[in-house]
Amino acid sequence: MTHLKASLLLLSLSLIAGCSGLQRIKIYAPETFGLSQVTPNLYVEASADKAAQLKIREIMEQAENTIDAAYGSVESHPVVLACVSESCYEAFGEKDTRAKSYGDGHILLSPRGLNWHFLAHEWSHTELHSRLSFMAFWYLPAWFDEGLAVALSEAPEHSEQHWNNLVASNTPRPTRKELYTFKSLSQWYDAVHQYGDDKNMERKAKGEPESYPVYAAAGHELRPWVASVGRQGLLAFITRLNNGEGVETIYYSADKAVK
Ligand SMILES: [Zn+2]
Repeated sequence: MTHLKASLLLLSLSLIAGCSGLQRIKIYAPETFGLSQVTPNLYVEASADKAAQLKIREIMEQAENTIDAAYGSVESHPVVLACVSESCYEAFGEKDTRAKSYGDGHILLSPRGLNWHFLAHEWSHTELHSRLSFMAFWYLPAWFDEGLAVALSEAPEHSEQHWNNLVASNTPRPTRKELYTFKSLSQWYDAVHQYGDDKNMERKAKGEPESYPVYAAAGHELRPWVASVGRQGLLAFITRLNNGEGVETIYYSADKAVK
């Protein structure tokens, strides 16, 4: 796309979508905004050298292998946009997060999210959503979606060890009952804000350890479930969701009903 065409497109769309919409539109024209295409599904910030590009390709392969291991196949093929500088990430309207998945199959990685764990986390969302009917996706609770992503991606930041540290230090964290109330994305992000999972840039600047009480709680909840039901259980779970059963109903009876 030429710069003129891109500018006209952005101008017309920005009038409709406003500023955040304008930043979102950039994911559809990454080369216009300083990213180079490395493979059909991977765009990397143009200033990244060959070694960095290779590392990101390896990250992508490892993340895909993780999704494949969990599901037995990979149905989603997200377009990954990788930033090696904070200014690149901020140009897409993001700041404190490490990575972000968009509902349309695009995944954006910050320089702090350039590892297989954070890509696999976002890919878990993309893969699960791609396998759900519209209604099943509509009723999917955020705690389950996030907990599954945390469990599959094995990020040390959200690990069982991190959860144990939060317990040992008596850091405020959601109870299981409270976790189940984080159903919509806005409820999830309210909790993330309330418990301070989104304040790790500030903590880092002060030399304090990172803290992710909400993500760690979701991982702590889903990890034993994933280990217990395995691949067949996960696929059976998705089938039942698509058949109109509620997550809670299937989840609570998972030990008996989902094998
Ligand atoms: Zn997530």
